[in-house]
Amino acid sequence: MFDGVIVFVFGIIIGSFLNVLIYRLPLGISLINPKRSYCPHCNTQIRWIDNIPLISYLILNGKCSKCFEKISINYFIVEFLSGLFFVLLFLKFGFGVPFFIYLALFSTLLVLSFIDFKYKAVPDYLLLIAFILAIFVPSFSFEGALLFAGGFVLLDFVITFYIQNIKAKITKNEELETQKALGEGDIPIVAIIGGILGVQLGLFAIILASILAIIPAIYGQIKHKDIETPFIPFLSLGLILVVLFGENIYEIATKLGLF
Ligand SMILES: [Zn+2]
Repeated sequence: MFDGVIVFVFGIIIGSFLNVLIYRLPLGISLINPKRSYCPHCNTQIRWIDNIPLISYLILNGKCSKCFEKISINYFIVEFLSGLFFVLLFLKFGFGVPFFIYLALFSTLLVLSFIDFKYKAVPDYLLLIAFILAIFVPSFSFEGALLFAGGFVLLDFVITFYIQNIKAKITKNEELETQKALGEGDIPIVAIIGGILGVQLGLFAIILASILAIIPAIYGQIKHKDIETPFIPFLSLGLILVVLFGENIYEIATKLGLF
C-alpha cells in the first residue's frame, strides 16, 4: 500500500514534467531555459506552491493564481493518468526492468497522444524514441512489428482509396479527394503494438483502439465538421489497456463472442 502511494506520487511528478514536454516540444522551447514554467496568458512565472501536481490545480480551481485565466484540464489529466499508469504497472510487474521500460514507453506515448490531440501531428523523433523503447520490452519481436506495420500500410491504402474515389464522389465532397485514411505517425505505434503484443492480442488492441475512437470521431464530425480524428491517443490507450489487463479483457471478449 505504502509502495503504491510512493509510486503514485512519483508518477504525478513525472506527469508534471510530461506536461512541460507537451507544451514546449512542439513550440521548440528549450526544456532547461526558462527553468520554471510561465502562465501562457499573463506570462507570470508560476510559483512552486502553484505547481504541485494535481493539488495546485484543484486548489486554484483550474485558474492561474495571478490573472485567473483558465488553465487547461489537460494538465490535470496528464498528471493523473501518469500516476495511475505507474501504479498499475507497479502492481503488474513490481519493481524490475519491465516496470521501468514500460514506464518510459507509456510516458512517451502520453506525450505523443496529447501533442497529437492538440496539433494533429507529432514530432518524428518522439515516435522513434517510443519505438526504440518498445524494442527493450522483453516480449518484443521484430516479426510482429513488421507484420503490423505492413498490414497497416495495406489497410491505409484500401481505406484511402475508398475515401478518395468512392466516398468523395458519393458525398460530392472535394475535400475528401486528398484525405488520407490513417496518419503516417500511426505506423510506428502500430508496429510497437504488433511487436510487443504479438498477432492475437495486437489485433485485439487495435480493434479496441478503433472502438474507443468512434465516439470522439462522430462527435468531432458533428460538432466541428472535423474529418480528422487523431488516432495515436487511441492506439496508445489500446496498447496500454492490453498490456495492463490484456489477458482479462481478451478472455471476457472471447467469452461474450465479441472476438
Ligand atoms: Zn496567468
